[in-house]
Amino acid sequence: MNNVRVRYAPSPTGLQHIGGLRTALFNYLLARAYGGQFYLRIEDTDQTRYNPEAVDDLYDTLRWAGLDWDEGPDRGGPFGPYIQSQRLELYRETAERLIAEGHAYRCFCTPERLTELRTWQEQQHLPSGYDRRCRSLSPDEAQKLAREGNPYVIRFIQTEAPVAFEDEILGKIEKAGTDLPIDPVLLKSDGYPTYHLAHVTDDHLMQTTHVLRAQEWLPSAPLHVQLFDALGWPRPKYVHLPLILGSDGQKLSKRHGATSVRQFKESGYLPAALVNYLALLGWSAGGDREFFTLAELEKLFSLDRLNKSPGVFDYKKLEHFNATYLRGFSEPELAALLLEEASKAGLTSTPATEAEKRQAELMAPLVRERLTFLNEAPGMLRFVFAEPTPAPVADLIPKKGTAETAASILAAVIPLVSGSDERTSEATEELFRAKAEELGLKLGDFMHPVRVAVSGSKVSPPMFGSMKAVGEARVKARLEAAWRLLTN
Ligand code: GLU
Repeated sequence: MNNVRVRYAPSPTGLQHIGGLRTALFNYLLARAYGGQFYLRIEDTDQTRYNPEAVDDLYDTLRWAGLDWDEGPDRGGPFGPYIQSQRLELYRETAERLIAEGHAYRCFCTPERLTELRTWQEQQHLPSGYDRRCRSLSPDEAQKLAREGNPYVIRFIQTEAPVAFEDEILGKIEKAGTDLPIDPVLLKSDGYPTYHLAHVTDDHLMQTTHVLRAQEWLPSAPLHVQLFDALGWPRPKYVHLPLILGSDGQKLSKRHGATSVRQFKESGYLPAALVNYLALLGWSAGGDREFFTLAELEKLFSLDRLNKSPGVFDYKKLEHFNATYLRGFSEPELAALLLEEASKAGLTSTPATEAEKRQAELMAPLVRERLTFLNEAPGMLRFVFAEPTPAPVADLIPKKGTAETAASILAAVIPLVSGSDERTSEATEELFRAKAEELGLKLGDFMHPVRVAVSGSKVSPPMFGSMKAVGEARVKARLEAAWRLLTN
């Protein structure tokens, strides 16, 4: 395993899929585990499906996930260009060589003829596939037609010999020649290669040692090894990654939940949690351990721990990973993240003021256990940084109480708040508890109008700590306003 060279080779057709990120991750980890190189190649040969936004999304999500690449369109490298649409000459060269050496031929059949052929085959209940008509053109005839400007594709000559290759996860795979597609297209009439030709050409020229890719490519792998063999190029090692399924055993799709990396990012997932979770979708370190940093994975990853069986994407478990990662932050780290979220939501200034920093530090320990996603933070913290919309009067009244009870609680509490900036929140709590006891109220009922008045809501982070973060003057003003509302 020296000189590992691996790649992530996405087709920019849509937002980066979670499965794509896992493919990128496994390639990245293999390179890092063996001190090799990981490069990025943009496979934009299907011009009808090309989407420039997808390219930006790709860079954005890979960077967000922390997977850096050694070579690629943006950083260059010794094997560029790394964008397939800029390598068309190379594919043509390969295809011409295959023709010259008797492994491929030009096919001039029009799309209309191919449609007719397919319809006829269907009517006759015959297996579908190209009828090899242009195989019988002599090289001179084919040259002539090409020179006259007739559009053509280049097809591979599929022989009937069986094909075998080794997959690093799945073991030996063997296919009878008769089970393979008839003379598949390598170069399209627009001069762009199909995936097959581009894969073989690029992974040879770019010296890829291992091809870790989605299992959807497994059926095409026999063709790929035939192409490598025909060209006299060494085959790379193939690693077809286990499928990712939804909880119902079907291929993961939008029906199951978010599938694009961007959606996860925007829903407040931490990249470290997502990456950790994805690493376990088809790989395990052995044993029960589940939590790994990227740096740890870079050391531990190996091909022999990849699974054959599909991974089931468990959204609940991923949520749990996210919450666990959030709890893993130290208080200063979490406070900084809270401020970032608060500033994104327009609640605080950027950079944060000293007062806002202090507030975030006070709130960090109070919200850490309550957060599953970081983007829930602005909702929880709004009342600390900004004035909440006053709650309706009815909300201020405790369950088995009246407006009078609520008003008398607030009246009793307002004087207790004086001096709270100079006390610990525990000391304020003591005072409140004593007062609740004196009035013969349970602390929960006693705190109800206080919570609603201060936070604007019946649910809030722990109140005594929160009041400390809001600050004496603002707490007092909110309690007084609520009291007025109740007594008017
Ligand atoms: N462009 C192909 C895809 O996105 C790449 C497959 C491969 O890794 O070779 O599916």
